[in-house]
Amino acid sequence: MNTADHTLRIDQFAAARKLRTPTWVYDIDTCRVIHANAAACALWHAKDEQDLKSRDMSEDMTATVATRLKQYQADFVAHDAVFTELWTLFPNGTPTTIKLQFSGFRLLDGRMAMQCEALGDTDQNPDNLRSTEALLHTDVMISLFGADGPALYMNPAARKVVLDANSTFREMFIRQSDHDMIADQLRDTGEHRLIAEVFTKNGNRWFDISAKKCDDAATGEPAVLVTAIDVTELKLTRDQARFLADRDQLTGCFNRSYLLDHIANLARKGARHIALMYFDVDRFKQINDTFGHVIGDKVLMELSDRAIARAQEGDIVVRLGGDEFVVVVNLDDPENCPTRAAQFFDDLSRPLDVGPDAISAKVSIGISVFDPVQTEIETALRQADIALYLAKNAGRNRFLFYDEKMGAEIEARKRIEAEIEVALSKRQFDLHYQPRLDVSTGTITAVEGLARWYHPSLGLVLPDDFIPICEDTGLIHALGRQVLEMGFYQAIEWHKAGLDLCLSLNISPRQFLGSDLMGTLKAYASRPDFPTHKIELEITERALIEDQEGAAVQLQAISDLGFKISIDDFGSGYSNLAYISRFPLNCLKIDRSFIGQWPSSGPIIRLILALAQQLDVNVVAEGVETQAQFDWLRDEGCAQIQGFLVGKPLSADELLPLLQEAGL
Ligand code: C2E
Ligand code: CA
Ligand code: CA
Repeated sequence: MNTADHTLRIDQFAAARKLRTPTWVYDIDTCRVIHANAAACALWHAKDEQDLKSRDMSEDMTATVATRLKQYQADFVAHDAVFTELWTLFPNGTPTTIKLQFSGFRLLDGRMAMQCEALGDTDQNPDNLRSTEALLHTDVMISLFGADGPALYMNPAARKVVLDANSTFREMFIRQSDHDMIADQLRDTGEHRLIAEVFTKNGNRWFDISAKKCDDAATGEPAVLVTAIDVTELKLTRDQARFLADRDQLTGCFNRSYLLDHIANLARKGARHIALMYFDVDRFKQINDTFGHVIGDKVLMELSDRAIARAQEGDIVVRLGGDEFVVVVNLDDPENCPTRAAQFFDDLSRPLDVGPDAISAKVSIGISVFDPVQTEIETALRQADIALYLAKNAGRNRFLFYDEKMGAEIEARKRIEAEIEVALSKRQFDLHYQPRLDVSTGTITAVEGLARWYHPSLGLVLPDDFIPICEDTGLIHALGRQVLEMGFYQAIEWHKAGLDLCLSLNISPRQFLGSDLMGTLKAYASRPDFPTHKIELEITERALIEDQEGAAVQLQAISDLGFKISIDDFGSGYSNLAYISRFPLNCLKIDRSFIGQWPSSGPIIRLILALAQQLDVNVVAEGVETQAQFDWLRDEGCAQIQGFLVGKPLSADELLPLLQEAGL
């Protein structure tokens, strides 16, 4: 600093001394007044300038005020700031509120001091005093914005964090949509509150912002009063908690409780076409059993990742549990649904690269489209589930849309399922027996036990109406056990009565693969009164095809116990001659559809007869209804005949006289 400058400063003080408004210069670093005019001395209740200069202003100063003054100092240096604020001073401990203007004042040694100038009179109104104090000391950020441009006013808390004091209200927001939302609401209702991310000196922060329309007290122009609190930590903690509460831990997908919230939200926002794409992994249990749970989990993670990758903005992927997922798709246009479904299906169907071998996990998808205002979410979920169920029933690895007809079908089915469970516990099932004739001797050598259901209101129900349902639901294990018990009981009775008769019983595929069967068979085979060699078990080709090695082992074990084995409905499915020859078989039962189609099916029947001869097993033609069929079969060398021509299935009581008549 040169002397000329120094002189200039002294002159400036001299001029200030003549002013009638209180003016003083405050050294922020030393907390001392270094100049004051007479009016300032009066304001500060000081005898003279010397008295005021001798005071240590830091004594009555709170830490917040000290920090704030440091901030001002920085603002003076940085952009020559000027602040106008209501302050409460405490000259000799008496609160005095006054509007002050602060500006920077460069000292001779280069440091920045603060020039303070009182604008207007002191205000002693206690309410004003208190509110002004509150405004200055609160941590709540308070700003007043005019229609456009930078803030008209910012309290110290706001100024402390604002990134740029010259920015407009809009420019504070990281997302313009947040500002637009506030602006819209201000227009409509005059106020709005939201949590938004804003630019601050401390980086991007989350503020809880309230905005209210008002008039600028000074000019009467329309303005917006904005109060804000930094809720970043709170929000992050809450987001984290919500993330955990809303997510499935394994896949990171949303969970069921979030699904309900999400759809309620979509409904509130006016969504009218929501698609639920309900999918699960075909034969997931088998994947788990074969490759282990770690690989099973990887399959689920990979599939959920793919669904998430295919999801568009506003779609969510939810794991309902196990291998069941739902993708919630908010459709702008319901016409798009088939395309979207096909995309999900294609993505999910690609081979998976998990584990040592690429696993071909396939999925099935059931889809319902609903209007959340008209239809309960639970109903829509059930509909998607029904469509999924039917997709599985139709052979899996496909997607299917729900329609009303499916609903009725499934309701009826559910009712039957429940009734079957009751029927099992009340033992409403019984066996009928259909005779099998030995062509060469003309005698009945065997009977086939066929399940019958005596339904309390429907009367007699035939197996085609309940066996497939039992097979699907797993009820077949319980039913199969009851059938074996009833049949075996009857066989023991016949054996005791000295009847030389074979009994064949049907074993369903699921029953054959289940663990129950061997236990039951072993238990009976070990009983001394049990005619094991008189029992034949009918197994369909379907049960043998999937795991031929396993089937061979199981059949051998059954055969080792002394039971006979026949293949039922032979020729109807997947005949694989290579494995048929390796099984310990007693008999092939020619599917009744071939007999029904005779004579056109004659060549096939001949082929099966020749095969049976080659394998050296018995052969039975099923479903023989006419004498012509019988004669032809006899002439072709078919050894045994079963069908309505010989006899319909009868109860044990009805059958007995027939057997006695035949001299058995
Ligand atoms: P299946 O094992 O092929 O049994 C023969 C079916 O053909 C029986 O029907 C029988 O009544 C019918 N049938 C016999 N002769 C003739 C004929 O000359 N013409 C015609 N049109 N049909 C004839 P049912 O009793 O309704 O049984 C249907 C199927 O249900 C059986 O076919 C079998 O697959 C299954 N089933 C029956 N009982 C049991 C059981 O206890 N356990 C298991 N797993 N399945 C069973
Ligand atoms: Ca059968
Ligand atoms: Ca059959």
